[in-house]
Amino acid sequence: MDLLEYQGKQLFARHGLRVSQGRAVANVEDAVTAAQEVGYPVVIKAQVLIGGRGKAGGVKLAADEGEAREHAGNILGMDIHGHTVRKLWVEHASDIATEYYASVLLDRSAKKPLIMFSVEGGVDIEEVAERTPEKLVRRHVDPLEGLSRQEAVEIASSGGADADVIDGVADALLALYEVWLQEDATLAEINPLIVTPAREVKALDAKVSLDDNALYRHPESQALSDSENEDPIERRAKEQGVQYVKLDGDIGILGNGAGLVMSTLDVVARAGGSPANFLDAGGGSDAEKIKQAVELILENDAVKAVLFNIFGGITRCDEVARGLIAAFAEIGVGGKSGAGGIPFVVRLDGTNDVEGRRLLAEAELPNVYPAQTMNEAAEKVVALAAGQRAGAAA
Ligand code: GDP
Ligand code: MN
Repeated sequence: MDLLEYQGKQLFARHGLRVSQGRAVANVEDAVTAAQEVGYPVVIKAQVLIGGRGKAGGVKLAADEGEAREHAGNILGMDIHGHTVRKLWVEHASDIATEYYASVLLDRSAKKPLIMFSVEGGVDIEEVAERTPEKLVRRHVDPLEGLSRQEAVEIASSGGADADVIDGVADALLALYEVWLQEDATLAEINPLIVTPAREVKALDAKVSLDDNALYRHPESQALSDSENEDPIERRAKEQGVQYVKLDGDIGILGNGAGLVMSTLDVVARAGGSPANFLDAGGGSDAEKIKQAVELILENDAVKAVLFNIFGGITRCDEVARGLIAAFAEIGVGGKSGAGGIPFVVRLDGTNDVEGRRLLAEAELPNVYPAQTMNEAAEKVVALAAGQRAGAAA
């Protein structure tokens, strides 16, 4: 389970990491009140489970009430890479001398926790890792010994932290490791970890993922999982027993079996398209499940075209076809799948595929395009999505 920034910061504070005082709010008036309470200048931050908020305009400094009102109004409801902003975090703004980066994660291949530290913080850390890997210090921790103060100091100094803040950075690394360990996190990341002009070391951002399998040990964290930390579509999918992951693009993807869905994503990407989701309807999908899956995909307004890729094994293609026909009947013409609506490219292969294709052809569904192979299907759906975009722009 991923935590919002302010929830991550609450965990940080509990383990002695320095963070700014702030308030989580859901409307402009509360944001203004919160700003008053924490004291100007404040920073107003979109609380969504995706990075790059700053670049997207979701992080703004406000010097007075007028600015706080304006920024809060602009950021609430904003769409950041497919995530709608429903909550803001308002904290007292920090002065920044330097931005560092620190994280702890589980390195599965080494079977050990991995600590990373860089003085090139604030920016995209993947870029640092790629362009200047020598500026990203990576150290494994013996899980039985834990992280020693000596190791933390070594990481800070070989990473090139300013001499006068090496102790402060080491403290932050020790606290971050404690967060990771004691909260059963899979990732605990701070970007940026700042040094203030007064030479304080402080977490300005927080990215924490908790291990779902260990949530039972953390009743407080478990309580967070109820609503705001999940995309509403992902939550519904879970209830229905299908695996759905929201992505940034505009092509809805539905397949049966994780391997098939993953390769479908790849083929669509290679054809120049951008998937809007990962949806695995699972093995043995019946008509009802397919109908629900179609509805889930269409909930996402970004979807311009859908690729249905079914390889029949236990799942029978005729059942899938029935599900699709039922979904179209229910959503109805005038709904999103109706004439002039969202095009569906359908590739049925495997068990009862001939029967499935016959059923689909007979149903004469509007906007359904059959395809024989995965490549053909991908090319078709990419072209159709482009057509939809052009149509919308016209
Ligand atoms: P992200 O873009 O989603 O990673 O959001 P961050 O919380 O990391 O904020 C993005 C950037 O906004 C940071 O790297 C800072 O440069 C800037 N920022 C955030 N909070 C403050 C603050 O309190 N004071 C100042 N001066 N800048 C801030
Ligand atoms: Mn950040």
